[in-house]
Amino acid sequence: MTPEPDRYAVIGNPIAHSRSPEIHQLFADQTGESIRYEKILAERDGFKDAVARFFDAGGRGLNVTLPFKGDAFEWADQRTELAEHAGAVNTLIAQDDGTCLGANTDGIGLLRDLKKSLRLSIQDTRILILGAGGATRGILEPLLQEKPALLLVANRTTERAEALAKHFQAHGQIRGCGLDAIEPGPYDLIVHATSAALQDQGLGLPDTLIGPQTRCYDLLYRDTDTPFMHWAKAQGASQVTDGFGMLLEQAAESFYMWRGKRPDTAMARNYLRPGTLP
Ligand code: NAP
Repeated sequence: MTPEPDRYAVIGNPIAHSRSPEIHQLFADQTGESIRYEKILAERDGFKDAVARFFDAGGRGLNVTLPFKGDAFEWADQRTELAEHAGAVNTLIAQDDGTCLGANTDGIGLLRDLKKSLRLSIQDTRILILGAGGATRGILEPLLQEKPALLLVANRTTERAEALAKHFQAHGQIRGCGLDAIEPGPYDLIVHATSAALQDQGLGLPDTLIGPQTRCYDLLYRDTDTPFMHWAKAQGASQVTDGFGMLLEQAAESFYMWRGKRPDTAMARNYLRPGTLP
């Protein structure tokens, strides 16, 4: 009798838009692994129950998306060093002893895609990050390891940006401020990491952030340009991209942690979004 495929899922709220199931199924086909991957919509206060049900039923691993990366951090029995420093977990891995390991692959995913899609080297650049939620927590340390001249985190709730900057200050040049108090640019790279567009809200950003050399990266991904991408193009940014490449790269790292095999992300990108890899 053929054994049941191992079960994986992505959990979040909202979750209908997620492309993780098709990506992981493609990775499984590429690597000859037998998995089943689904979407789980959890109530805002229902994360723990949903995760317990999934692992009690034999689930092997979860991807965790907004707004649950902090809850996943609390849930994990042990965490990787990056996840420990970030205070956010986007990957849960069932261990053979019944415990659960928490990891964060967002930063690795962003860095790999910045290098592949934008051919960007971070060293000595001035970077602005918009947002101070779970995704930002995951990308700060990997970005700081590349030694930017400045990493400015701007957030609607100023205190969260300031707290994050303080938390990571030992790792490099980082400051925090409110969205209404961003130092004028131009920045070399602007990373959009808020969920404002999911609520159809704009950010009201000033016109002083972008110059002809500025590259803009939206963590959000869509089949059409996001509101941040529209704004960045209208401001004259040199390159503008969405977060689909990061999604693939962070997913590939999660897949590797679960299955010990590295999928081919360039091939996956060509298949899922033909002709978009420079
Ligand atoms: P999160 O933890 O819920 O954080 C949300 C962030 O958005 C907070 O900084 C919040 O500010 C800000 N925000 C929410 N509504 C806003 C508004 N109306 N105006 C201004 N700021 C607002 O979410 P997350 O996990 O960090 O995810 C952020 C985005 O990144 C999402 O779109 C997610 O899909 C995307 N993402 C993509 C990838 C990828 O692989 N491409 C990976 C991770 C995340 P406050 O602190 O003031 O509430």
